[in-house]
Amino acid sequence: MNQYDVLKQYFGYTSFRGGQEQLIDSVLEGRDVLGIMPTGGGKSICYQIPAMLFEGITLVISPLISLMKDQVMALGSVNIAAAYINSSLTAEQIARVYRNLQNGVYKILYIAPERLDSYGFAELARHLPISMVAVDEAHCISQWGNDFRPSYLRITAFIASLPRRPVVAAFTATATEQVRLDIEQKLRLCNPVRVITGFDRPNLKFEVITPRRKADAVLELVSARRDKSGIVYCMTRANVEKICELLQENGIAATRYHAGLSDRERQQNQEDFVYDRQTVMVATNAFGMGIDKSNVSYVIHYNMPLSLEAYYQEAGRAGRDGEKAECILLYAPSDIMTAKTLLEHTEGNASPEQADELRRRDHERLDRMVAYCRTTNCLRGNILDYFGQPHAPTCGNCGNCLTTFMHKDITVESQKILSCIKRMRDHLGYSVGSVMLVRVLRGSKDKRIVALGLDALSTYGIMAENSRQELNEMLDRLAELGYIYKNTAYATVALSETARNVLFDGERVTMASKEVPQKARKKKRRGESQNDSSRDLYERLRKLRFSLALEQNVPAYVVFSNATLADMADKKPTDLDAFMEVSGVGRAKAALYSEPFLAEINAYIDRYGE
Ligand code: ADP
Ligand code: MG
Ligand code: ZN
Repeated sequence: MNQYDVLKQYFGYTSFRGGQEQLIDSVLEGRDVLGIMPTGGGKSICYQIPAMLFEGITLVISPLISLMKDQVMALGSVNIAAAYINSSLTAEQIARVYRNLQNGVYKILYIAPERLDSYGFAELARHLPISMVAVDEAHCISQWGNDFRPSYLRITAFIASLPRRPVVAAFTATATEQVRLDIEQKLRLCNPVRVITGFDRPNLKFEVITPRRKADAVLELVSARRDKSGIVYCMTRANVEKICELLQENGIAATRYHAGLSDRERQQNQEDFVYDRQTVMVATNAFGMGIDKSNVSYVIHYNMPLSLEAYYQEAGRAGRDGEKAECILLYAPSDIMTAKTLLEHTEGNASPEQADELRRRDHERLDRMVAYCRTTNCLRGNILDYFGQPHAPTCGNCGNCLTTFMHKDITVESQKILSCIKRMRDHLGYSVGSVMLVRVLRGSKDKRIVALGLDALSTYGIMAENSRQELNEMLDRLAELGYIYKNTAYATVALSETARNVLFDGERVTMASKEVPQKARKKKRRGESQNDSSRDLYERLRKLRFSLALEQNVPAYVVFSNATLADMADKKPTDLDAFMEVSGVGRAKAALYSEPFLAEINAYIDRYGE
């Protein structure tokens, strides 16, 4: 048995993806490796396949409990003996795993890093034939990453305490040079083979939207994707509660996840989502690391995250099965304020110099994130630039590539707005409310405006021809460019120092406005109709998968991934040999599932033909 046999017979795949083969070959030669691949790139089999070929056992160190359970379940479904030890198990269950370990039952054992400290485990480990230690989500060892877990620092001492040094393999999706070096140093990798694959995820469509009201936008986006599984990330617990409620009130099967809920409820909600009992998860960034749900077809960010790394990681939870998926970020300039406030609160107990340095990096990362939200260039390109990967100037599959931007000159409009702010301020002697400002500009007959004498200002009604929305967009743009300060708490606006450049020195102001091209939807329809028959069959196979998953009490993707069902609907196998040709069908799954699926396909062909 070699790596290709394991790939085919256990996992049911015919070829390796980029980077996998080199990583696996190196590990099998006894070399340490560092594998950097995007989320969904296929890191797991890079240690699972060698684990099957090594004599002894492979320890997989992984930060989250939920990941272990899912992975062990998925391995079980392809007949690979694996187990996990973490705090969710009872003492009895742990004792059983220990006994099995001593009897050499498992090829793979998942553990949380905290477990390395337990005397019982360290003692047991010294007597186990450990061939490899695989560190998943290895960026958790780095303070410079955004998921630092101090318990990861224990891994090195643990490895050093083993009688024989195993192969050490580290995997992460975080690609910054700093984090990369940190992993290599902290884990003391010996002359590792580094494999860094492309970071592009061509099946993901990126989009940034700046809606007037985000809540309306979320509801609209989710409603249009009712039958699909999705995640909505919010920055705060309060927003999670609000949006989850809004979706539920509108008949959407949504659930929620944040640090304020009890462990039990979090666990329950997560399972409901993973098992497709609820279609939408509304969550803070506490949700998701290690969630191995492969059929998430969109990730919406209600707020801008703190860094592009964090964004790409969270958004990357869409489309892990390789199917088309969407990553939509709802941006508002006020997100910057929220982000800055959040950064102020995350200093911890560093020394003053360290704190300064950390703050500087935090703000650098935030600035880079804002640049992503504001760019009118290819969004995918913007992300790949961040990871230092060369790319084509346009991708044709992101919000910006699919939009024609018109750069409007709004210098005159800006001058009108800015001077109106100045006049109102001079007249009133206190801060100018933005709602009032817009009314004055549009010449509203509002009683208060008349009572305050604002209708006598020379700027009263000078922008009557512009809609409220247009004026608000221009205000946002002026705030973005720093000509005005918006106080979000009091909804007031004030001129900044640089406003005079526009008012008196003729500095030009431009604004990009989107011209959405011909409905993209029509195109999709045509694509679908070409393939009506396999789409119809696909739906039937999905239903069958759902009922099998329910019966066996496993998540649907543990039966088959969407990508496998799509390939099956396309190939329409009618016998076992043909069934084994479907991507993602190995021996164990063929034995388990060929019968019901072949029956469904044959019945379909009998009725409708190929
Ligand atoms: P990562 O840990 O890098 O985020 P996973 O290991 O969870 O990614 O893999 C993501 C998906 O890709 C899984 O559904 C997995 O079965 C699938 N996959 C991995 N390798 C291959 C391959 N060589 N061919 C087809 N699918 C693959
Ligand atoms: Mg993974
Ligand atoms: Zn693009």
